[in-house]
Amino acid sequence: MSAGVVIVGAGLAGAETALALRQFGYMGKVCVIGREPWLPYERPPLSKAFLKDAQRSPQSLFIRPQTVYDEHAIDIRTSVEVLSIDRQAKRLSLSHGNSIDYEKLVLATGGEARMVDVPGATLAGVHTLKSIDDVVALSPQLRAGRKVAIVGGGFVGMEFAATARSFGCPVTVLEAQDRVLARSLSPVISRHLESVHVSHGVFLRTGVTLQRIEGRDRVSGVVLGDGTTLEADLVLVSVGNQPCAELGPLQDIVQGGGVLVDADGCTSDPDVYAVGDCCASIREGFDVPIRLESVQQAVAQAKRVAAGIARYPRPPDEVPWFWSDQYDVKLQMAGLPTRGTREIVRGETKSGKFSVVFLAGNRMTSIQCVNSPGDFVWGRRLIGLRQPLALEVMKDASKSLKQIYADMHERVGQ
Ligand code: FAD
Repeated sequence: MSAGVVIVGAGLAGAETALALRQFGYMGKVCVIGREPWLPYERPPLSKAFLKDAQRSPQSLFIRPQTVYDEHAIDIRTSVEVLSIDRQAKRLSLSHGNSIDYEKLVLATGGEARMVDVPGATLAGVHTLKSIDDVVALSPQLRAGRKVAIVGGGFVGMEFAATARSFGCPVTVLEAQDRVLARSLSPVISRHLESVHVSHGVFLRTGVTLQRIEGRDRVSGVVLGDGTTLEADLVLVSVGNQPCAELGPLQDIVQGGGVLVDADGCTSDPDVYAVGDCCASIREGFDVPIRLESVQQAVAQAKRVAAGIARYPRPPDEVPWFWSDQYDVKLQMAGLPTRGTREIVRGETKSGKFSVVFLAGNRMTSIQCVNSPGDFVWGRRLIGLRQPLALEVMKDASKSLKQIYADMHERVGQ
């Protein structure tokens, strides 16, 4: 039997690739190697429900139980790290001193939480949030009255802020940009989320830099660029992820920090693929490779790569989508806002239910919805139609996106 497919990284993308290979009829060996001690698990609850409920077991996060991998003859090896790749010999060296050969290699190594490079970053009480082990370390410290400082107002930071408030912790969010989630969201939605957080008692400091973290044995405060000192018993550093793409001589296939892949998830080496948070590709409307860190993308890329390896018909492209939950705000986003797009707000921001539609020229490229699941569903479909849209139609909030979609679908179908 040939060496089969070896998948490096036992996260969501790695597990989904293995399962999809079997679903698409791949009969060869499938081995998934992960350095964490757990079976592949879902990360989104780490900053939300799992962090809130200390009683939940890590097993409740597992994507599938061991029995499913056994039934599908998927060899999952946990607590094993791949140290290097010899692409000439098609061999991986492993942390236990042995090696494994591959016919096809799938990199599903995800990313690692970045740490800030300031004095005090290694003090006890300074954390990142990426894994079950991080939650195990963090959650006993979330107690009423414990002062929490969050460095970085991105999705994980803002979700953590909401969860920490639910424990009664005084929370300060420190964000370098002039608004939270500036890289991902319309200013209208950033402002809305900021006001929701402030109404829940979060102290928000935007446009600030972190100079150092203070403390003796453990953290006692943070010092900002303007010299202000804020007391803190716990600091969460949430400044994004560094893709794990540092395996052996991969220089030719790693670009902009991620493993560069084409639309089929293949690198410039025809026997090496990449899926999930570690990979970067050129997307419509962007002139540099971009990485998308989301559950939906990890699953879609896994299916695409598995189909390519199993010689199964390629699944249709999906419009990328994401979500975030903060308090009672359900944020759902579809498509990718590109530079120079026009934004149209549908609905009243004051009502707490509205959407922002992004148009590039006369085409809808993205939608971001606040507590508006209907807009999200139909907006996603409208983006997928890739048809020109009249601006006045979009501005007319009396006409639902469902109606607009139906009209357009009928027109395109004619
Ligand atoms: P990962 O889940 O990071 O898995 C990669 C695995 O590979 C890791 O276990 C790593 O240890 C292992 N690995 C790396 N290098 C090696 C090596 N050399 N040898 C062996 N193993 C290795 N997405 C959403 O869409 N919505 C959300 O609400 C949302 N919330 C999130 C909240 C948090 C706290 C986090 C951390 C992420 C969240 N995400 C969310 C993002 C989503 O979870 C990721 O996009 C998804 O997990 C990507 O899966 P992955 O398999 O590519 O990477």
